[in-house]
Amino acid sequence: MLKRLFSLFPSRSGSAAAPHKQTKRVVPRDQHSISRANISRGALSAMKRLHAEGFEAYLVGGGVRDLLLDGNPKDFDLATDATPEQVRQLFRGARIIGRRFKIVHVRMGRELLEVTTFRDSHTEAESKRDSQQADSGMLLRDNVFGTLETDSARRDFTINALYYTSKDFTIHDYEGGLEDLAKRQIRMIGDPETRYKEDPVRMLRAVRFAAKLGFSIEPNTAAPIAKNAELLGQVSSSRLFDESLKLFMAGSATATFGLLREYQLLPHLFAQTHAVLHAGDAQAERLIENALINTDKRIRNEQRVTPAFIYAALLWPAVAKLLRELVVEQKLSAPMALNQAAGAVVSQQLAAIAVPKRFLIPMREIWDLQLRLPNRNGKRAFAVASHPRFRAAYDFLLLRESAGENFDGLGQWWTDFQATDEQGQEQMVKDLGSQGPRTKRRRHRKNTPKPQA
Ligand code: ATP
Ligand code: MG
Repeated sequence: MLKRLFSLFPSRSGSAAAPHKQTKRVVPRDQHSISRANISRGALSAMKRLHAEGFEAYLVGGGVRDLLLDGNPKDFDLATDATPEQVRQLFRGARIIGRRFKIVHVRMGRELLEVTTFRDSHTEAESKRDSQQADSGMLLRDNVFGTLETDSARRDFTINALYYTSKDFTIHDYEGGLEDLAKRQIRMIGDPETRYKEDPVRMLRAVRFAAKLGFSIEPNTAAPIAKNAELLGQVSSSRLFDESLKLFMAGSATATFGLLREYQLLPHLFAQTHAVLHAGDAQAERLIENALINTDKRIRNEQRVTPAFIYAALLWPAVAKLLRELVVEQKLSAPMALNQAAGAVVSQQLAAIAVPKRFLIPMREIWDLQLRLPNRNGKRAFAVASHPRFRAAYDFLLLRESAGENFDGLGQWWTDFQATDEQGQEQMVKDLGSQGPRTKRRRHRKNTPKPQA
């Protein structure tokens, strides 16, 4: 109850700590479009539970943003004045997690909710005590609790700082998020450069939301990105892997990739890919573009996409280039050259982005199979076709053909092979027999694909 009383006077303690001017706006239920019917059962009952215990509880972040945009929120995040420990005690199956700041994962049936305690913007004394800041300005630990007001000041973009509560069905907007939603723009809360220095991942988030929502990036928010892009080098490689999945597996990979290049972020995520593209390799350009278009299409059609395939495509141009050099200059056999090239490209990539083994292994299998797909004589076609990664490798071959590599109809051959019965397959292999040498020639040609304008 005391808590309730205090929350009636939030501005006194709150706004002093806010690093910029806030304008409070509370929108009543009849003046916005959010309907309870579009909110998940779990999120509603978690809010109810917290309210019943005298705590504040709001939906915040992507859930509110996407509801207002008529989208389908993929999940709901909650913000509350209950501490992580209090939240944990209120819900069965709640777990406190989080490295940078503590979050409570609350399981409600099949749903997983993220519940965060209102965070504070730091005064200097608080910063020293409860959070750590590296010399670069990057926040390392961040567990100072606050109010809705201070919490909104610490979120990244205005459109992500809208709060909705089922207590009275109001939306609370301190940062002008509703206005920016209407203007369809991504605007950083506070001073953009300072906020990027605190957490460089926000540069990736700006680009990701702009691509996903089709919004523009407000000029002051956009301006410091290219200049600060190299700060991504300070971000842990495992966090960058998580972010890379959000960048490429959320249905807007093509647009996102375009913006990553436009804002000069790409070299700090995929230096080798950037180098090949920067050198003007038209075939690499098409391969990556087609891979991303396919990925977006598959997600639209609710087909499976795997990071292994996306990484295979993003890194292939660099691998292929090195492979060609090793074959030509060091006279290595194609399999040896591929092994060496893949090893070198992967190890350099891992320094930036920690792609887990469970994706690296299938990625390399997709590459290795590229050398085996042309060899179909005897039992070989059947052996390749029964490899667990055959389907992905076949898709990858088609991708390479779509980018302009010429394998004398090899992709079509494999398409036909899969469409026919065993007898037909044996006949197809037999028909190859007479063309043995052609297969060999094809193999070599593949290592020196000619870019087509
Ligand atoms: P998505 O639809 O991708 O889930 P989201 O906006 O919900 O979008 P989350 O990563 O789930 O994004 O984060 C939830 C909310 O937490 C954000 O809306 C934002 O308010 C806040 N947030 C997340 N990451 C940061 C960050 N790096 N800096 C500041 N605020 C952040
Ligand atoms: Mg979210």
